Amino acid sequence: MSSESPGAYQSTRGAKHRIEAEMSEGSLAIIGMGSNQGDREATLDEAVAIIKAEPHFHLWTVSKYYETVPVGGPPDQAPFLNAALLTEPTLDPLTLLERLHAIEAKLGRVRDERWGARTLDLDLLLYGQEVRRTPRLTLPHPRLPFRRFALVPTVEVAPWMLDPLTGRTVNELLGDLDRRPSQVAVSAADPDDPAEVALASEVHDRLVRALDADPLRRADDQRVPSSDHPADPRDRAFAVVQAAATRIAGWRWGARGLGDRWVVADYSLDLALHRALAMPPAAAGPEGWKAVWHHFTYERAARAAVERALPATFVVLIGREAAAIRDGGFPRPVLVLESAAPAKIVEEIVVACHATRA
Ligand code: ATP
Ligand code: CA
Ligand code: CA
Ligand code: CA
Repeated sequence: MSSESPGAYQSTRGAKHRIEAEMSEGSLAIIGMGSNQGDREATLDEAVAIIKAEPHFHLWTVSKYYETVPVGGPPDQAPFLNAALLTEPTLDPLTLLERLHAIEAKLGRVRDERWGARTLDLDLLLYGQEVRRTPRLTLPHPRLPFRRFALVPTVEVAPWMLDPLTGRTVNELLGDLDRRPSQVAVSAADPDDPAEVALASEVHDRLVRALDADPLRRADDQRVPSSDHPADPRDRAFAVVQAAATRIAGWRWGARGLGDRWVVADYSLDLALHRALAMPPAAAGPEGWKAVWHHFTYERAARAAVERALPATFVVLIGREAAAIRDGGFPRPVLVLESAAPAKIVEEIVVACHATRA
């Protein structure tokens, strides 16, 4: 290690230097640790000692241990201690996860109830820029962007680490959770599918009640000034996004007093922009340059308006296309649901909302 980088941050800075030098290898991994049973601190200490002694991990940095409130599991659980490790493993992700499970077992973990009490939970939160969806391993960890208890220690050890799905650093993801008012946008993944739209609308209404939230409704946001009604469908889509974003930005002023209350929108500006960007531009006619100029102007205006509007903390997409949108360069965390029934869906979203705060 170089001699001109002394002090407490030496190991983290060394690791950052390496990620810059070896971007393509993406071999830095974040392991999340949690314990809420037995001697929590001793268990975490022991897990760290085991990982340090493993030949297949280089352990760069251990975060502080943070006491957190349990989210989502059975009621009346004891508080957790959570931490994160910045490591440089030489194992492939699946073998690494198996090692972590072996360490859990060694330190007394019994697997039973979902999100129940445990002596030790080791999750693979990030493994470089790996994206993987297999039954045994999902990367990045699917709930990382919604969990303050996982993001806070991760940001402590590696604020510059990128989430490969949103392209945001973990520091930015945590900043999103800190923003007020918090907003969850509930949208049909395909706004042209009436069944998805109906389900999204029902979920929206139930969620407003469950969170005692302020509703933000799409019906309020559909007007495009008639003076500005371009002929090209792609330009028109951008104009609609811009009009909706401008109205939401105005609405935001009225929302200043919300404090910690949630805003629940039944419309995702990010999705509308994403879909407009995916539309094919009109074929260039004799005045092709004019069409190009129009595209550029409408796109710019829409992007700028979306940046000024109230940004979603996360987006819930309902429907078959949800996972594909999440994995296709969508700029915000997307909650893809496990349930189909409205009541269950609302429970899932409420857990995610609570996790952003706890
Ligand atoms: P959560 O995943 O919400 O944090 P949990 O940690 O309580 O919940 P476990 O019971 O520990 O869940 O794990 C359930 C399964 O998740 C494991 O069998 C494991 O194979 C799988 N899994 C998938 N992706 C990951 C990952 N990135 N890290 C850890 N486990 C994962
Ligand atoms: Ca080691
Ligand atoms: Ca976990
Ligand atoms: Ca786990």
